[in-house]
Formats: sequence, structure tokens, C-alpha cells
Amino acid sequence: MDRIEEEEKVMKCVICHGEVIKLTDVKEEVVVGNDVVYIPIKVPVCKTCGERYYDRRTMQFLEEVGGKLNKTRAGLKEVGKVLMYEEKG
Ligand SMILES: [Zn+2]
Repeated sequence: MDRIEEEEKVMKCVICHGEVIKLTDVKEEVVVGNDVVYIPIKVPVCKTCGERYYDRRTMQFLEEVGGKLNKTRAGLKEVGKVLMYEEKG
């Protein structure tokens, strides 16, 4: 995590050029089949526009978890349901 904190000091947001970018707990959404899985991660987030910045390690981690979840649902617990609204004519 040291590397991220170093980057944080020098980073400027590429979207809004804001300088307030802080490590923040976020939930990354990964779609597995018809399900949405939230993966809690810590990433630098621009406090001005909300842009998230993923480093290579985080991207790899998300890819790994995504790949794993396509094979097995181990480690998942249900925290809610994803529902689809269908308008009845
Ligand atoms: Zn921004």
C-alpha cells in the first residue's frame, strides 16, 4: 500500500484536474452470470468528480476474483437481491 500512498501525493485527477484524491473504501461491481458481486477494495478516488483510479495490482486482483467467481461461488454471501422491473402492458 506504500506505493499507492506515494502516488496519492503527486496525483492530479485527469478528468477534472482536482488535487484531492484520497484512498477510499469502495465496492467494485463485478457481473457473474446474472448476478452482481460487490468486491470491497480501497482505491484512490477523486473527491471532486468521483473518478476512481485503479493501479495495476488492483486491476489484477479484480480480474483474479472475477475469473475465480466464474468457476466457483465460494466466498460469496448474499447481501441482497438484484431485481429486474418489468412493466406490464
Ligand atoms: Zn476529478
